[in-house]
Amino acid sequence: MTDLTAFARDKGVKYFMISFTDLFGGQRAKLVPAQAIADMQEDGAGFAGFATWLDMTPAHPDMLAVPDPDTVIQLPWKPEVAWVAANCVMEDKEVAQAPRNVLRALVAEAAKEGLRVKTGIEAEFFLLTPEGTEISDPADTAAKPCYDQQAVMRRYDVIAEICDYMLELGWGPYQNDHEDANGQFEMNWEFADALVTADRHSFFKFMVKSVAERHGLRATFMPKPIEGLTGNGCHAHISVWDTSGTTNAFAGDGGGQIGEVGLSEQGGYFLGGIMKHAEALAAITNPTVNSYKRINAPRTLSGATWAPNTVTWTGNNRTHMVRVPGPGRFELRLPDGAANPYLLQAVIIAAGLSGLRSKADPGPRHDIDMYAEGHMVTDAPKLPLNLLDAIRAMDADTELKAMLGAEFSTAYAKMKRQEWDSFVSHFSHWEREHTLDI
Ligand code: ADP
Ligand code: MG
Ligand code: MG
Ligand code: MG
Ligand code: MG
Repeated sequence: MTDLTAFARDKGVKYFMISFTDLFGGQRAKLVPAQAIADMQEDGAGFAGFATWLDMTPAHPDMLAVPDPDTVIQLPWKPEVAWVAANCVMEDKEVAQAPRNVLRALVAEAAKEGLRVKTGIEAEFFLLTPEGTEISDPADTAAKPCYDQQAVMRRYDVIAEICDYMLELGWGPYQNDHEDANGQFEMNWEFADALVTADRHSFFKFMVKSVAERHGLRATFMPKPIEGLTGNGCHAHISVWDTSGTTNAFAGDGGGQIGEVGLSEQGGYFLGGIMKHAEALAAITNPTVNSYKRINAPRTLSGATWAPNTVTWTGNNRTHMVRVPGPGRFELRLPDGAANPYLLQAVIIAAGLSGLRSKADPGPRHDIDMYAEGHMVTDAPKLPLNLLDAIRAMDADTELKAMLGAEFSTAYAKMKRQEWDSFVSHFSHWEREHTLDI
């Protein structure tokens, strides 16, 4: 286990940022001078839980964020500071609804069955002006801007700086591009154990926002930041391995339509779990009011939304909720940029394990262009149309809630319901426009 005091001495670190992620994906931290880190490594840093989104009251005792020292990262852009992910504890008990704890519990649950879930994510983002209202590059106006060579070079300083940092951190970054919306980018690094990917995802968002700010820009992972343009997805690629991490349990020929695309029987059941719980898990993979403007969008300026609206799976075809790009893994294209890095991984494992345990059938493979021919698929459920539908679907899914844990499920549903209520009580321009003269 890394000794943080020694780490500070060796690397010249002056401050540790003890960080945890709340239910809404908010990253909360305390800056602790290296001189004080020894005690904090033992006992954790104190927080008033009510002041964050964790469903606590002002009367709750102090919550302690105890650093997981093996996650420590010296900030490449500010080496005197080191970030460390923390686990939330209260009165010597793990806070059950804290997202990193929810994920750790599910990783342990999978391990009990001899399984190790490995994932890679594609966290798309926009680079906007500092006010967050416009694309920062006024020349980025192409109708089909994906892979735009000139536009990615105009943001080379930002993109290369972030990629250099990922190289330094040993994440195995392998490509960066301009994505399908004007102002949108994607940077890819190698998949890893679900908890490692969640920590990296969380750090990646912090890093992208920080580097963008240093260049006078604003980075956003908001699902649909600009009307009419493709939204920010956060696709997750998933495979399940044995505990040694050397044998891919998803690879193989599980027979039938599953076998044809190179998935094993276990892979088929795990996929079956994702399909079965899709409408409910959307409350986590697509957690904001704005999320539903991405998955139920009309066609965007570039010609496609690249986001699903129906619960279907297929082979190497990007128009469905699940794509099997090659043997031994599948891609869940549902999640968006607002997904909480820890809860995203947690809900994938929860749904997948539930599928494995119940030997869930993923249903038929649809090898059609879902955007053009989707109306022909009448036997597949539609994804929720808004956040309220998703919260209700999650609330109705007792199996998924049990997998995620009762404390978490109750707290999450309550907080999200409050958020929805706050949204609908907001008086909008639209309703005046459509109702004033009625
Ligand atoms: P695409 O845009 O084609 O969907 P990307 O190359 O952008 O794919 O991202 C693919 C992600 O999937 C990367 O994070 C990659 O490391 C990850 N990945 C590749 N193989 C596996 C696997 N077997 N299990 C989990 N993730 C994987
Ligand atoms: Mg105080
Ligand atoms: Mg990609
Ligand atoms: Mg993409
Ligand atoms: Mg993808």
